[in-house]
Amino acid sequence: MTYETVIGLEVHAQLLTKSKMFCSCSADYANAPPNTHVCPVCLGMPGVLPVINKKAVEYTMMTALALHCTIPEYTKFDRKNYNYPDLMKGYQISQYDAPIGKRGWLAIESNGTKKKINITRVHLEEDVAKVQHRGDYSLIDVNRSGVPLMEVVSEPEISSPEEARDYLIKLRSILRYLGVSTGNMEEGSFRCDANISIRPSGSEELGEKVELKNLNSFKAVYQALGYEVKRQEKALDEGDTLVQETRGWLDAKNITVTQRTKEYANDYRYFPEPDLPPLVIDRAWVAKIRASIPELPEAKRDRFMTEYGLLLYDANVLTSSKAMADYFENCVRLTGSGKAKMISNWIMGDYSRLLNATSTEIENAKIRPENLVELLNLLDEGAISGPIAKAVFEEMFHSGKRASIIMAEKRLSQLSDAAEIKKVVKQAMSGNPKAVADYKAGKESALAFLTGQVMKITKGRANPSMVKKILLQELGIEPQGGEK
Ligand SMILES: [Zn+2]
Repeated sequence: MTYETVIGLEVHAQLLTKSKMFCSCSADYANAPPNTHVCPVCLGMPGVLPVINKKAVEYTMMTALALHCTIPEYTKFDRKNYNYPDLMKGYQISQYDAPIGKRGWLAIESNGTKKKINITRVHLEEDVAKVQHRGDYSLIDVNRSGVPLMEVVSEPEISSPEEARDYLIKLRSILRYLGVSTGNMEEGSFRCDANISIRPSGSEELGEKVELKNLNSFKAVYQALGYEVKRQEKALDEGDTLVQETRGWLDAKNITVTQRTKEYANDYRYFPEPDLPPLVIDRAWVAKIRASIPELPEAKRDRFMTEYGLLLYDANVLTSSKAMADYFENCVRLTGSGKAKMISNWIMGDYSRLLNATSTEIENAKIRPENLVELLNLLDEGAISGPIAKAVFEEMFHSGKRASIIMAEKRLSQLSDAAEIKKVVKQAMSGNPKAVADYKAGKESALAFLTGQVMKITKGRANPSMVKKILLQELGIEPQGGEK
């Protein structure tokens, strides 16, 4: 029996707002001691009222528009009731039947084929507190409680772990381009739950759905889905029945394990949040947000190809992050687009190699665009040779020093000082009297030999045209138009 895989993804992304979703506490709690970014609202005290964070609504709307969603005229918040110690109020303020964005899509490219994955909804809710269980007691940190959390839900149209990974990478890239989330999965600001089921190939009916949790990296998503495909296929092949359940991914063991059987949506007893007014989204507001959407990865990639003549692969790599695309364009702005290809080659070659080797993001690298351009100009003017430029670049990467400083320190620049070249020319002549005599006797090739000796003594740094001029002078032949 052959099967097909059906995957739907729910992504939660913390929004980069200054304050929390319904109170004025700072949402930037990453390095704060536990329970310091709290107030009566996010602590869930009785008698307090939430206030909607406008920026969070706008970021969600911007994301929904970037994902081609419809923005309804009306949206509201709802209470999602469940009991867990991470919920300070005993309920979470979320959105149920009137989300900010509906029916959009995201295009992915797997193995060169484009596929549209439909987006069901984009909605806004609040994050919950962090609970750590320590044996017979538990610790709670409320700093995270109330941080704006955007949820992007896909239709179950993803058909392999590879597609799921591509979808997540693409979605994260869009969120980063929009500047609405850090998209950092390891730090928990970008989280993914995956629903996966399998069914006999060609069947229309969906199989029993398993929800996967604890997927803390792209790798975990990919591996957990791969594991589930195999586990579910094996179960059906052996005549077992699959049950709808939630399973957790154990990174250390590379397996999923049962956590609980799935609650149904009506267990949450959703009802409209009585403490918040419904929002009427007027079209002028939507238009304003739409106009503020920056150029997104695909559009940028296509423009890089037409504007700078880059190949698809190169344009894809350079636009993989906004920071890298900006870096490239800042360099091009300093040099003119004639050097775009050269800049692209350097960023994709030695630069990427060093960034990878040191796990550095380009925005944190010590080489600024003006420093890379300085090096490339030196290379272009012939002031430095290719191999030396590579060595200088590596030193720039580690020390952050400018190319000209490194070249001066290591005496790597081209030698163009006439007095110094003259000294070396004399040294080469006195060391090779036979070649001097040969040249004077009319043997032209002796000149090339003597030039080679000068280059050898200066380790290739001497300016070749000056060497020739000075050699001829010293051999008693004045080059035409040459000065004394
Ligand atoms: Zn608060």
